[in-house]
Amino acid sequence: MKKGTLTVRIGLDDTDHPDFGCTTYSFDGLMSSLNQMRGLKIIERRLVRLWPYASRRTRGNGALSAVIEIPSNSKENLLVNCKSWFDGLLSEIADYPVAENNPSPALLVSFDATPSDWYWEAVRGEVNLHKRVKQVIDSDIFMLSHEDKWGVIGASAAISWVPKGNHSWELIGWREDEKIGTERRISKKSILEMSSLFADTFMNRDPTFDKGIISPRTPCPVLYGIRGATKSAVESAHSWIQGVEGNERCFKWASHITNQLSDDHLQGTCCGTVISKPEVKKGAHAIVKVISDHKGENLVAFSEGGDVNKLLRQLMPGDRISWMGLRSPDGSIHLERLKLTSASPRNLSRPDCCGSSMRSKGRGQELYCDRCKMKADKYWIFDQWSPSGLDLVEGWSQPSPSNRRHLSLPLEHGIPM
Ligand SMILES: [Zn+2]
Repeated sequence: MKKGTLTVRIGLDDTDHPDFGCTTYSFDGLMSSLNQMRGLKIIERRLVRLWPYASRRTRGNGALSAVIEIPSNSKENLLVNCKSWFDGLLSEIADYPVAENNPSPALLVSFDATPSDWYWEAVRGEVNLHKRVKQVIDSDIFMLSHEDKWGVIGASAAISWVPKGNHSWELIGWREDEKIGTERRISKKSILEMSSLFADTFMNRDPTFDKGIISPRTPCPVLYGIRGATKSAVESAHSWIQGVEGNERCFKWASHITNQLSDDHLQGTCCGTVISKPEVKKGAHAIVKVISDHKGENLVAFSEGGDVNKLLRQLMPGDRISWMGLRSPDGSIHLERLKLTSASPRNLSRPDCCGSSMRSKGRGQELYCDRCKMKADKYWIFDQWSPSGLDLVEGWSQPSPSNRRHLSLPLEHGIPM
């Protein structure tokens, strides 16, 4: 930090309506507006994804923050600017039609580092709103919020996340106002080419469904998000794809360091033994019971889980498996990755003699051939079984890219320990 400057963390969440807006776009507006301030420097913009089961969640469950530097004497000026921008936001969202989840934005400005627990609690579980609001108020953080204050959870998590090696980058390009709601013109061919030209970008396409997945399908202002390992990778790929004839030009763009692909929402690999046949429910989601660490658990694989679901449906009691997943509010574990480590014997049979199976005459008796009268010690024959029709990485299955959570690390980037 330079002498005479202050480092400030600014966080924002919950500005989007199901049919309008996007927190990334609102945050970009805030950054542009603050950028007018003399001596202000944006050091880094951050995008965090939070616990997928949060009872109150925004689309994509992301929140935004930035680390900025300002001259020490412009603290008041910064707060005045934030307030005026936030008032504008509140009056804009007041015009949105009533929906189940109307925006409940919060903007936080902190001149000190905030507890990293605020991030971990929000990426791994449900955060109590009243408790978090009190913690924020007790911390001398400048808070602007809608009366419901829901945005405080994501905004406080976003300013408390410190990238620590397992981060990635996402460059988001936004559309001109008049194009919002119309079809996004980014050709599938250009996305395919971008993937092969820029090897450090990822999650651009879903080969299973042969489609690009950089553009959302909602009527929000995002044209696309390009994910990658480094800032320069996403920025080079962006400038290349913008140069492709026929592709829609974005109106504005910004790179964010993110916790996407970090696996921060998961708590490691578990293993256990299957004790029930898979039960397939409506919509193809399937459940098996396992014993893990002397405890019974229900493992659930949704049809969107692709190979995870297909593998789970082939399991049999006695199979030993490893998995990674999230405990859902109903106590079951929703699987994100699954591996069969050792299969229990399938298709048990007795040895053949004279063209048919030998039989045992009862408990403690030997095997016996009805025709030639040969006897044999009792034993079973079985298939060396392994699951079929799956695209596994070192035995691990995962959902296809378009059905994977933003937070999940693809197996191509790392095998669970
Ligand atoms: Zn025989």
